[in-house]
Amino acid sequence: MDPWYNILMSETIFLKIISGEIPCHKVYEDESVLAFLDIGPLSPGHTLIIPKEPAATLGELSDESSAAIGRVLPRICRAVKAVSGASDYNVLQNNGSLAHQAVFHVHFHVIPCFEGGEGLQMKWNSGTLDPARGADIAERLREELR
Ligand code: 5GP
Repeated sequence: MDPWYNILMSETIFLKIISGEIPCHKVYEDESVLAFLDIGPLSPGHTLIIPKEPAATLGELSDESSAAIGRVLPRICRAVKAVSGASDYNVLQNNGSLAHQAVFHVHFHVIPCFEGGEGLQMKWNSGTLDPARGADIAERLREELR
């Protein structure tokens, strides 16, 4: 059975945008990637970049679709920056509801920031990295990636 079958059965709003069933303000399209304006922008120019492959989270995305997004993401960032006039911007990618993902189809946000607060507001609760704990986590990650 097609591995995409289960995902296709729980069709998201983004698949409907890809198929043209729901309109969007399209910014870029190739055979693997679509970019369009976010319907609820945090600032003018807020753009979403999605793979056409219907993976819910980044870890589930194929290497091919990841590479296709990686190829165009910097170019789209430059265009958003040029057209919005913003000097700075965030690239945000949420995975899972605890991480504020609302649409379960992989997407990258490009969000211009402006003086005065328009853009992504973040609370960055940084801790400190304990050396022993850090060594353990890094070792386990290396093992997992082998
Ligand atoms: P998430 O929280 O999942 O990372 O972000 C989902 C984003 O999709 C939100 O910023 C939301 O405004 C956007 N969005 C949801 N539905 C639609 C839609 O139908 N059209 C467009 N253009 N954006 C949408």
